[in-house]
Amino acid sequence: MESVRTTCPYCGVGCGILARAAEGQAEIKGDPEHPANRGRLCSKGANLAETLTPEGRLLHPIVHGRRASWDRALGLVARRMAACVRDHGPDSVGFYLSGQLLTEDYYVANKLMKGFIGSANVDTNSRLCMSSAVAAHVRAFGEDIVPAGYDDLDQADLVVLIGSNAAWCHPVLHQRILAAREARGTRIVVVDPRRTETAEEADLHLALRPGTDIALINGLLAHCRRSGLVDDAYIARSVHVPDGFWSSIEQAGDPWSVARACDLAPADVQAFFRLFAERPRTVTLFSQGINQSVRGTDQANAILNLHLATGRIGRPGAAPFSITGQPNAMGGREVGGLATSLAAHMDFGPDNVERLRRFWAAPNVASKPGLKAVDLFRAVRDGRVRMLWIMATNPAVSLPDAGEVRSALARCPFLVVSDCIAETDTSRFAHVKLPAAAWGEKDGTVTNSERRISRQRPFLSPPGEARPDWWIVAEVARRMGWGDAFAYRGPADIYREHVRLCAYQNDGQRRLDLGRHAGLSDAGYAAMEPWQWGGRPFADGRFPTADGKARLVAMRPARPEAPLARWPLLLNSGRYRDQWHSMTRTGLSPRLARHRPEPFVEIAPADAEAAGIAEGDLVRVATPQAASLFRARLTDRHRPGELFVPIHWTDRQATGGRTGLLTRPLVDPHSGQPGFKATPAAIAKAAVDWHGFLVARTLPAAIGTLYAVRIRLAGGWLVELAGSGDPAPQAERLLPAGHRVEANDAARRQLRIVVEREGKLEGALLIGRPGSLPPREWLIGQLAGDDEAASAAEWLAGRPLGARPAAGPMLCACFEVTADRVAQAIAEHDLGSVEQVGSLLRAGSNCGACRPEIRALLRRNFA
Ligand code: SF4
Repeated sequence: MESVRTTCPYCGVGCGILARAAEGQAEIKGDPEHPANRGRLCSKGANLAETLTPEGRLLHPIVHGRRASWDRALGLVARRMAACVRDHGPDSVGFYLSGQLLTEDYYVANKLMKGFIGSANVDTNSRLCMSSAVAAHVRAFGEDIVPAGYDDLDQADLVVLIGSNAAWCHPVLHQRILAAREARGTRIVVVDPRRTETAEEADLHLALRPGTDIALINGLLAHCRRSGLVDDAYIARSVHVPDGFWSSIEQAGDPWSVARACDLAPADVQAFFRLFAERPRTVTLFSQGINQSVRGTDQANAILNLHLATGRIGRPGAAPFSITGQPNAMGGREVGGLATSLAAHMDFGPDNVERLRRFWAAPNVASKPGLKAVDLFRAVRDGRVRMLWIMATNPAVSLPDAGEVRSALARCPFLVVSDCIAETDTSRFAHVKLPAAAWGEKDGTVTNSERRISRQRPFLSPPGEARPDWWIVAEVARRMGWGDAFAYRGPADIYREHVRLCAYQNDGQRRLDLGRHAGLSDAGYAAMEPWQWGGRPFADGRFPTADGKARLVAMRPARPEAPLARWPLLLNSGRYRDQWHSMTRTGLSPRLARHRPEPFVEIAPADAEAAGIAEGDLVRVATPQAASLFRARLTDRHRPGELFVPIHWTDRQATGGRTGLLTRPLVDPHSGQPGFKATPAAIAKAAVDWHGFLVARTLPAAIGTLYAVRIRLAGGWLVELAGSGDPAPQAERLLPAGHRVEANDAARRQLRIVVEREGKLEGALLIGRPGSLPPREWLIGQLAGDDEAASAAEWLAGRPLGARPAAGPMLCACFEVTADRVAQAIAEHDLGSVEQVGSLLRAGSNCGACRPEIRALLRRNFA
């Protein structure tokens, strides 16, 4: 089979992929002709082939726990929805969509809800990701337009990353920024309370106090005004300045006041201001650290203010740049996937409602915004929304205060879940489960962070009875009596309708005008090349507002969160390099699992010492919402008083690491985006008697220990464990059948049992204190058969006798090289560069996602 050109299903960079269904395992390569990545892929994209397994897929419709035909399941959904609307009104129904959906799926779901059911209760998990940026764009520009492209990063002299760990969350883009620095001396400033991998690579890192971004940005704008860097001519022509704007900016004070407010060294603040003054070609790239805040919209507007007032917008290498987390967050925005807009970037003004009614010949177009994500689930809990349809997302994990979300789902009178995965934390509450096609099987388009529309093309057949999401929604609409409006033959029909709507009676009012594709043939759709709509927005200094001018937005500085007596710490959360959202896909990849195998809570040493916590201890992280267990990792990467945890772990993989349960459901008043990055919290050492791990070919049917994290391996499973009481009875349940060899040292509270069959390792359970347990890598290699088979004594030791095994987390997921191995090589061979490490070990020579970590090891060696 020939390779198909498709697009990565993970982050908003939107990398092009060449994919081929091969015997055994698919082949995945970066597409050298795709402008977003020019052939590069990060570790997640490069390891997609490992995730293309039928394991765990939802293969057939399920109604009330039993397999059902499509006809029965769709008929039931249509009947229940019609009855709900009839008896309780259109707003008693809700859809909760996902940035994983293709634009065509999104378009059809939005059309059914907002045009035919007559409610705008259709929101998306993109609400959690970048809705503050959307609200800020609308406030400043009059329309949700991202005014930058990736080539601006190639042309900028200064790139400021605020609240963005691009090295882990958008690795290919980060590599591009580093390449620009190499080529043209671009300076990189990172503004982030944590010293992330992105910060490690920066020329200047401003580790500001959480919640002080507005103070810093307004301080910079005040400094620009005092230094004559405000572009008065541009403002006079293109920007409306509201009364009191400059006095609100001046409140930030001089650089010394800014430094005090942000808890930064004055010299660093001055260095940042100087770089900004010297380098007009500035791109300010922002992401979840700005958006996921109860002041997210104001924070984003502070960045837009800065660029508008200095005229750094609409020019090559100069723009504010919101980077989206999901592969099709932008496509969802274009078709009205958010409850706060209609399709094609239209708001709920009467003209737009009427325009949509005409275009769709729709009986009942929603005339007011619907419920945003957090409010939608509150309405489900309160009984105001009585039927909910969730597509391609896992809100029981990802929404804040996820325990309350679960209560809402449990109480929902009729819950429909469309997903490609059979069992998720959300779908266990579903009355109807509908099997959806997955990446590699789906056919449609996505829009990346720079407004570039690319095709996702199928190269695999959907397993079982899985169907595309657009087809599922259209079949329900047909059964509700709207067959003519949903009579699509395929995604090309939907795409044409979408682009025609964008152009329909537009007359230049909306910049989202895709009309050039209105007459695209099926063959043209099949062969569509990636294309960017909107060109260089605002190059003419005109904005889509009534007077053609952009708006500056006055705001008061945020007050940083004060520590509370019972909750003295501030919990921050984010992504790991090699995992994606709730791990339903990346969790299937043994290579990706080994970079950060467990959910760690990162704690400053002073806070750990005060709580009597040591590296590797199990820690109970508690917030006013809930508590969960994490493994302690002591770090000086953030200031005392702060904690950091990952967002990925679910009931499916672990009894701990449940970050969604912990975060509080406070939202930004403009966007409704939750403030995930700052939840008051407390920590305590968890009361456990033992720690341990199991390496085994098969996963035990039940684990049953206080703490357990399941990690997929090439030849089996690794389970990290901790528990109370005598571990011996647990061993009976955990280990596979076979010949057992045991070493029990009760005095040192050690229990080690290995199981072998025909000279091969079947399983090993090693229990002891955290520091007494060997690294896992060698036993994992024994299970996979990578290394020469060893003796039972060596298995019990967890290492070859007389040798020190490679240890530490997996650093390079492409070539499976551990951090320890890289550190050893640097020391032994006196390596001085990432390239030298790559030549010797291959680590870092493929996707490049691990290069920041290699550079950190090199720096440590020379420190
Ligand atoms: Fe996929 Fe990585 Fe590219 Fe993001 S940077 S689109 S995750 S390959």
